[in-house]
Amino acid sequence: MTRCSLIKASLNSMFVSIQGEGPLVGVRQVFLRFAGCGLSCRYCDTDFAERIVCDYKHIYDFIYEHLPLHSVVLTGGEPLEQVGFLYQFLPNLKASLGIKVFLETAGYLPQEMQVIRDYVDYVSMDVKAPYAAGIEPLWDRHRRFIEILSGEIQLILKLTLTPGIHENDRESIEEFLFGVDRDILCLVLQPVHGSESDRGFIATLFDWQRRLISMLGIEVRIIPQVHKFLGME
Ligand code: SF4
Repeated sequence: MTRCSLIKASLNSMFVSIQGEGPLVGVRQVFLRFAGCGLSCRYCDTDFAERIVCDYKHIYDFIYEHLPLHSVVLTGGEPLEQVGFLYQFLPNLKASLGIKVFLETAGYLPQEMQVIRDYVDYVSMDVKAPYAAGIEPLWDRHRRFIEILSGEIQLILKLTLTPGIHENDRESIEEFLFGVDRDILCLVLQPVHGSESDRGFIATLFDWQRRLISMLGIEVRIIPQVHKFLGME
């Protein structure tokens, strides 16, 4: 038995699918959905009750079985809540398969990110709008999180938005984005699933996209969750 086979992760599920969000939409990936999260966003659709404990070999075999893949996605919940597992798992995974790692995170655990940053290729970070999510503002944590990312990591920022975007959210989001001093692959405005038919809301996003492009000079895209339209996980 190798040392790695003793490493365990607590997952909600493990599956193969396509990337349904953001600029890499449609690529083939294995998803490791980590159980547990330190936040409690009001629109959260993760079932925290389901948990399976998987060891390194089980996860490695699942990934190997589904090759070829664009990358392996660490999602959740919040994967960085299990940084001990990731710190041992990721170097071995990359050394064995040379596969890219795509981290989806709420960007509130900068110290944990620092521990694994050398093994991550893409970070898709949720920028949490406090009123929409119904949580305390995370601006300082978000700033420190972005600061510690290495230059090789491709960073995607994602805003999950609900109809009736609060004006206070818009102002604090713009102030935060204006202070980001780093290359960004793309800023994604993602309407929460089910809100696509709200024409007024989509028109608001369209206007805001224009303002953000003008103000920030970065790539800003409106992209819904495509996998949900296809009935995929
Ligand atoms: S950060 Fe993500 S997983 Fe955690 S509560 Fe919010 S939506 Fe759910």
